[in-house]
Amino acid sequence: MFINSDAKDKSLKNNILALAKEATEAKKLDDLVINATSGTLKNEDGSLYVFSVVEKAMNSLSPNEKYAYVNSAGTPEYRNAVIQKVFGKYLDDIKKECYLEAIATPGGTGALNLAFTNYVDRGDVVLFPNHMWENYLNCAQEMEFIPQTYQLFDEEDRFDIKDIIEQVKAIKTRQKRIMILINDPCENPTGFCMVDEDYDNIIKLAKDNPDVDFVFLVDIAYIDFCNTNTDIVRNRFAKLKDLPDNAVTLFVFSGSKSFSLYGYRIGALLIMTKDEKEAKAFAEASNFSCRVKWSSVSTAGMNVITKLILNEEYNREYEKEVKYVVSMLEERSLVFLEAAKEVGLKVLPYKRGFFICVPVNNPEEIRKKLIENKVHLISTKSCLRIALCSMNKSEAKRLPKIIKDRLSKL
Ligand code: PLP
Repeated sequence: MFINSDAKDKSLKNNILALAKEATEAKKLDDLVINATSGTLKNEDGSLYVFSVVEKAMNSLSPNEKYAYVNSAGTPEYRNAVIQKVFGKYLDDIKKECYLEAIATPGGTGALNLAFTNYVDRGDVVLFPNHMWENYLNCAQEMEFIPQTYQLFDEEDRFDIKDIIEQVKAIKTRQKRIMILINDPCENPTGFCMVDEDYDNIIKLAKDNPDVDFVFLVDIAYIDFCNTNTDIVRNRFAKLKDLPDNAVTLFVFSGSKSFSLYGYRIGALLIMTKDEKEAKAFAEASNFSCRVKWSSVSTAGMNVITKLILNEEYNREYEKEVKYVVSMLEERSLVFLEAAKEVGLKVLPYKRGFFICVPVNNPEEIRKKLIENKVHLISTKSCLRIALCSMNKSEAKRLPKIIKDRLSKL
C-alpha cells in the first residue's frame, strides 16, 4: 500500500451524511419511515426548509458576487457582518475592551479545523463535552491531539463546571495551554442550553487558574435557534470580554445552520481577545492556513450572508422567519417530550434546538435494530440522537413509543 501509515487508520465511523442518505432513500420507498438522522431543517411535509429571504438575497447577487475568486480571509464586509451577527448590540461595548477578528471558512467545520490547527499542539489534550457532535473526534485524529471529555451535566442536570475544574487541575500538570470546547446554545446532540451563571463560572475558572492559558472554543453553530430573542445568547458571549489576560475566546459560526446554506459551505472563525498582538497573529495565521487548506470560500455563500446581515430589510425578514423555525422546532419537541413521558422514555436535559437525546447503553446496536422498525437516527457513544429538525410533528409523536418498545425487547 502506498497510503501513509496515519492515513491507513482514517475511516469515517457513524458517518452522519451517509446514514442520512440511506434514510432518505428508505423514506422514498415507504412514507412510514422516520428519518431523524441529519441536522438539516425540514418542513412538516419533509421538504428541505429554505429561508425565503435567503432565496431572495441569493437571486439578487451579481455574476461577480457569485463566481469571482475572493481572497483567503474573505471580504472585509463579510468579516464585519459576521462579527455584527454574533455580537449584535453588544459590539460597541466589547470593542471598548477587546479586539475582534473574523475569518471566512468553509462552514463551521472549516472554522473548527483552523482553531485546532493554530491553537492546539500535537499531543495536547483538548476538552470536549461527553455528549458531543462526534466529528470533533475525527478532527482530533486528523490533527493528532488527544480528546478528553468533561461531564456536560451535573447531578442536577446543570452545566457541570465542577468537572471542568477538576479536569483542568489534572491537565495543567502536563501542558500550559488548555483548549475547552463549549457547544452552546442548543448543544448537538442534547439540545442543552447554558445560562448566564455558566458563563460567569467559565470566567472564574480562568481567573482562578492564572498559571494556565485557556482557549475557549465556543461552537455557536445553533446561535439562532435558542430563543426567539437572540440577544439573550449574545449577551452571554459578550460576558466573555471579562475574561482575564490568560484566556482567549474563539467562536465557530456556521452559515449552514443559521441560514440553511448547507451546500454552500460557508462559516467563520472569530476571535475575541484583550491583546492586539494576539488578534493580529490570529488574522495572519488563519489567512495562511485558509490559503493552504482550501484557498478561499464560496463567494456566493459569503456575499449572500453579507447582504442578509447588513441589509436592514433582509435582516428583519430573517428575524421573522427564524422565529417561525424556532416555534416549529418547539412544537415538535413538546410533542416528542410529552409522548416520551407517557411511555416512560428517558431523555437528556433538552432546552431548545435541532436534536434530542435518549441515553442508552449500546447506542449503535439499538440504532441498527431500529431500522427494522423503520426508524433511522444517529448513535453517539452515549446516546441515540434524534433530529427533530428533520421530522414532522406526527413522527415526533410516534417515535418515543417505537424506541421504548424496542428497548424493552433487548
Ligand atoms: N458544529 C456543530 C455542533 C454541528 O452540529 C455542525 C454540523 O452539523 C457543525 C459545527 C459544522 O457544520 P458546517 O460545517 O456544515 O457549518
